[in-house]
Amino acid sequence: MGYDISEKKTSETDIKSDNISDIKPKSQEVEPARIETPYSSASDYSDRVGAALEQKEYQHWNSAEEQEANRKSVIDYDNKKRAVDKASLETQSSILTRHQDAFDEKNINRMSSEFGSNKIEIYNEPDFVVEKVPVDTQYKIVGVRDIKDGKISIRDGDDITRLKHTSTHETMHDLSYQHENSQVQAFESDRGDMAIVSTKDLTSGIHKIEETFRVTDGTSDRLEIKHYNRYLNEGITEMYTLEEMHQRGEYPDFDSYTQEYGWAANLREIAGDEHVAKAYFGGDIKGLKRRVDDMGGRPGTWEALNHNIDAYRSTGDIRFKEAADEIIDRLHDAKEGLN
Ligand SMILES: [Zn+2]
Repeated sequence: MGYDISEKKTSETDIKSDNISDIKPKSQEVEPARIETPYSSASDYSDRVGAALEQKEYQHWNSAEEQEANRKSVIDYDNKKRAVDKASLETQSSILTRHQDAFDEKNINRMSSEFGSNKIEIYNEPDFVVEKVPVDTQYKIVGVRDIKDGKISIRDGDDITRLKHTSTHETMHDLSYQHENSQVQAFESDRGDMAIVSTKDLTSGIHKIEETFRVTDGTSDRLEIKHYNRYLNEGITEMYTLEEMHQRGEYPDFDSYTQEYGWAANLREIAGDEHVAKAYFGGDIKGLKRRVDDMGGRPGTWEALNHNIDAYRSTGDIRFKEAADEIIDRLHDAKEGLN
């Protein structure tokens, strides 16, 4: 009961604070004819239908029955789904406007081809845990973005602002630079056998994943997986997420990646927004690394910072946090010296 009332209130205030009134007059001013006749010709209409049909289909469920069962088990599903979709679209449009210089054509094409109404799904609690986070972790995971196909899964919750926060955060990952690269190498052993090793690099924002596989008789075993810049990437994601939400008049009531957010915000102040945005949205990680190394006065500053941030997350050992803080302090001092 109490749930329904607070839910309605939230959606009413959303309408006011989500800047709908900002968006409409603008489009009317710029393209007044479009409002009355949305398609200027039959071929324009057919192009748009074609584009809509080419939208990627996201498979969250094995059957329509499964999908319907999930929808029914999430209280107030339709309202929540509208809210997360809207948060995602607003984030896309705002980021593409604010950081357009950081995006290249390839990035924009990828995003428009990945757009689809089923991209985001809200999962009921048991299904989210069973399907999305089968391994127990230290943290309560509220959202997951499939790094390979961009599908976003959100854990159901009773607070709409939380769901929007998760949707905005995962959409930010989606907007960030995405790249995949595979290589296959054949080695000949001393005995004359051939060994085939394949490596796969995935980049999402500034987060890089390197996987190495050994291929024998058509099966491949993973030898190694390495992560780089993983949690600074989360900090930057959360930094842009909170900015988007504040702009929309939304104030999330839970913190995520607080520590990493602090490092990211400091780094941006030191290195400049352009370098951070170009690395995160445009894939110029080398440019940001060079900037940090230059400011740190020695090569390896960027690696050391990321190593300590990631090691602190995985071990909780305070010495790694102190080491990361020290690097940030040193960079701050260097910046003061430069100015
Ligand atoms: Zn994340």
